[in-house]
Amino acid sequence: MSLTPTEIWSRLLDRARLELPEQTFRTWLEPTEALAVDGDTIVVAAPDRFAADWNESKHSQYLASLAPVTLGHPINIVFRVDEERRSRPQMDLFVAPAPEPAAPAAPGGLVSGVQLSARYTFRNFVVGKSNELAAAAAQAVAAAPGKIYNPLFIYGQTGLGKTHLMQAVAHEILGRASQTRVCFVGTEQFTNEMVASIRKGSTPDFRRRYRESDLLLVDDVHFLKGKEATQEEFFHTFNALYEAGRQIILTSDRPPSEIPGLEARLVSRFQWGMVADIEQPDLEHRIAILQNKARLDHLELTIPDEVIRFIAEHVRSSVRELEGSVIRLLAYASLKHREVTVELAREALRDKLRLDGDGDSTDPVTLSVATIQQAVAREFGVTAEGLRSKSRTKQLTVPRQVAMYLIRDLMGLQLVEIGSAFGGRDHSTVIHSLEKVERSLVSDPRFAKRVTQLHEILGRLRE
Ligand code: ADP
Ligand code: MG
Repeated sequence: MSLTPTEIWSRLLDRARLELPEQTFRTWLEPTEALAVDGDTIVVAAPDRFAADWNESKHSQYLASLAPVTLGHPINIVFRVDEERRSRPQMDLFVAPAPEPAAPAAPGGLVSGVQLSARYTFRNFVVGKSNELAAAAAQAVAAAPGKIYNPLFIYGQTGLGKTHLMQAVAHEILGRASQTRVCFVGTEQFTNEMVASIRKGSTPDFRRRYRESDLLLVDDVHFLKGKEATQEEFFHTFNALYEAGRQIILTSDRPPSEIPGLEARLVSRFQWGMVADIEQPDLEHRIAILQNKARLDHLELTIPDEVIRFIAEHVRSSVRELEGSVIRLLAYASLKHREVTVELAREALRDKLRLDGDGDSTDPVTLSVATIQQAVAREFGVTAEGLRSKSRTKQLTVPRQVAMYLIRDLMGLQLVEIGSAFGGRDHSTVIHSLEKVERSLVSDPRFAKRVTQLHEILGRLRE
């Protein structure tokens, strides 16, 4: 008895749901629907072009690899755009505020709030693994504002390019339609303007300004935490724009559901469109960013490749830090009238290098808790200090668990000792971490490869 397309697809999805990050599953796979099976190919509908392309390039191979086990035979997966069924989350109950009295339309192209930075364009944005989803989503939004992903919510640690990307969308749209009314505002500025307008009795003007924009960019919405009046106002602004089909882009240092004290109705609205994260760039990506930076600035002093590589290897915390390192290195070189060499970079960037935990790279390396923490931190693009800290962000949790696992495995420390090497965590946390790593080693081949490599390299230090 053969399975229907829907049955085949849900078997694959049920399995994928167990393995993929929840956000990925919800964003990309949940809104799909099996259309037909044609020979050994299943055709699956995605709600729009972007989702179809993304699924095709990121998920079809993976899903196909599940087929032999879940279905008993291999299958190819092809994604199509479903023209009929443009899925869009339902609005939850709310009553839109009465429209403001009609006002003369603001002149087009008006950029309210802070000016856009001319440098923050797509052309100047280097795409790599860590930001490809956010970049692709931003491109898609720029191509069809208000149509595909509304809002676009970009989150990630500071200095990784959120503001750059959101402004790139504005540049792109303005370049095509210069009459577009763009509003770019930081959350704190939004709050301040709102408070001032209440004081001056000019709230209608304030509202009009934001509610009449075609494209609203609100930077750093994590600052909405605990600001109830601002949240209320923002909620209505959001609704007014959304209902009118205007594009909204938001940035934050964490996903909507993790912003403490953010009202549930805002959390849910922020998740309506696309939530995309930006992570730390890996080494290759850092090199590409530095090369791009060198090209852009028409630097009089050229930076030799080995110096670029040196900076990329040692400055890992953010793109902003990378840029800062170049600026500082060049200033130092011109002050001292010296050539740009690795030696000079080491001197000029001494403080930054030490901050990144690399000051001791000339010391003989032996296997110790600190060495393991450093090696793991470097592999995952975080700091050893972060691993020992109390912070429980996703970026730190996984490498921390890996470091615990490797310490246990390579050094055989007691659970309590391991806990205390990570900021005094208790032994049950350590057990949980070790179990988590063991499970992932089985279920995630890429993760397993990373951990095995670390294990091998560190293992050599044992002799
Ligand atoms: P965030 O808003 O996430 O704190 P920004 O957008 O302000 O970060 O970026 C910090 C700096 O790094 C900016 O100068 C920006 O141009 C640069 N930058 C960030 N990511 C990239 C990238 N992928 N390519 C080129 N420059 C980048
Ligand atoms: Mg920013």
